[in-house]
Amino acid sequence: MSRLNGKIALVTGASRGIGRAVALRLAKEGAMVAVHYGTNRDAAADVVRQIEQSGGEAFSVGQEFVTAANAAELYEGLDQVLEQRTGQRCFDILVNNAGVGLVAAIEETTENAFDQVMNTNVKATFFLIQQALPRLRDDGRIINLSSATTRISLPGVAAYSMTKGAINTLTLSLSTQLAHRGITVNALQPGFIATDMNKALLQDESGYKFGAEYSSFGRWGEPSDIADVTAFLASSDSRWITGQCIDVSGGSHL
Ligand code: NDP
Repeated sequence: MSRLNGKIALVTGASRGIGRAVALRLAKEGAMVAVHYGTNRDAAADVVRQIEQSGGEAFSVGQEFVTAANAAELYEGLDQVLEQRTGQRCFDILVNNAGVGLVAAIEETTENAFDQVMNTNVKATFFLIQQALPRLRDDGRIINLSSATTRISLPGVAAYSMTKGAINTLTLSLSTQLAHRGITVNALQPGFIATDMNKALLQDESGYKFGAEYSSFGRWGEPSDIADVTAFLASSDSRWITGQCIDVSGGSHL
């Protein structure tokens, strides 16, 4: 399969978890992938190595998101590599995947924790998209990682769920603005996926059972379950879909 031959993708948070699986899958489809990482440089280098060993093309770009200025800093690094490799700065696919969880009841949520989850999940995504716009080619793709917690009420994750609600609103709002360029904007809403974000649940017997029973299929989601749908959304096959928040939760709590 090579639906993405000639395309260039930036996948944020691709050093681990869902982002890693997305980077590998987009590369398998033929895209050149910018594997973004926050702090795990070695893990990102490993993803790049794996893509290259399979005959694909990738490079890593590091930037931790703390303030809005970090979006510009990421693009400075990306511009340099793209200019070296392709002679220009444009790319085709932006997957806004980097994110953090926050498990805390509203009574226990501190202002610092609230700001951190908002800054990483909402503010960074907003400014990454803002600064991607002059770089994204027509018929490009913006794919945002949201969460099924925007549909299903889950105790103890109010602030986190709010960040994903903001992502859904951003997705809808931008879709009509960018349609004249053929750029689609969609969000994916995973349920429980077996990644570091859910380490505590995965390591606990009752937590593991809770996560598995959430889905209609009675198992935890795997990063590849999300990567496969992302590859479809990144391809021209999805050209008639925009402004959608797509449930990829294995039919959780239907
Ligand atoms: P992981 O914790 O496995 O990985 C998170 C990734 O995001 C890492 O690559 C990390 O980079 C990067 N990242 C985190 N914080 C920052 C930051 N401040 N600056 C830059 N990069 C950062 O997460 P998942 O793979 O589980 O989640 C990926 C996305 O999917 C998130 O947006 C999450 O909210 C969403 N999601 C996940 C679900 C799940 O059950 N796992 C369910 C629903 C949605 P590094 O390690 O290099 O620092």
